[in-house]
Amino acid sequence: MNSNPDLARHHGLEGEALVASLHNRFAHRLALVSSFGAESVVLLHMVACVDQAIAVIFLDTGKHFWQTGYYRSKIIDLLGLKDVRIIRPHTGDVTLLDPHGTLSGSDPDACCDLRKVRPLERALAGFDAVLSGRKRYHGEGRDQLAGVSLDDKGRVKGEPLAGYDAAAIAGYLKRHGLPPHPLIEQGYFSIGCADCTQRGGTADNPRAGRWAGQDKTECGIHPSADGRLVRNQQSGV
Ligand code: SF4
Repeated sequence: MNSNPDLARHHGLEGEALVASLHNRFAHRLALVSSFGAESVVLLHMVACVDQAIAVIFLDTGKHFWQTGYYRSKIIDLLGLKDVRIIRPHTGDVTLLDPHGTLSGSDPDACCDLRKVRPLERALAGFDAVLSGRKRYHGEGRDQLAGVSLDDKGRVKGEPLAGYDAAAIAGYLKRHGLPPHPLIEQGYFSIGCADCTQRGGTADNPRAGRWAGQDKTECGIHPSADGRLVRNQQSGV
């Protein structure tokens, strides 16, 4: 059992039960960060089942597929989400650091820092707990993902879908009649910014189309307290 009481109380929970437990503890100081991507609707649905007023943060990098904007609007209406916050990078930062919009090609880490990491840190001010939809089956360093952990700012990080695999995601979508992102039928398994997302991937390796051909696998918005992804060895959750 984890000795940190803010982690221990949520020990062994996953899915909607973990969302409910974190909401019970943190109430309006809990937020979900969602890309409204390929599998996002599962966690968005769980959050809406617990409380439609939970804050949902979407990082509008200015680089998303137009289909993601369409899908975001559709899901907000479908689930009745009441507090979706569309967060953009500072115009001054973009003008200074990426005036031609080409930084993703020359320095993707700097681009993610400009368009994701900095805006998210501003957006999370005032929140003490945050939900994300990462899963161990996605691999690429996520295979040891903890169900609950602390991020580098001391916030509680909940990963309700950590133990979900492709079959569990598909089953949840089917059970609840949730609509897929429109790019899935075009061969995308994981959907981020258009500059850095290609068709491809497989059910077992859905993120293969993200930053394809590069060493980069993460955008930098998930720093843990110790810089690692650590799985709870006792529960696997
Ligand atoms: S995913 Fe690509 S386009 Fe999006 S912020 Fe990161 S480097 Fe820039």
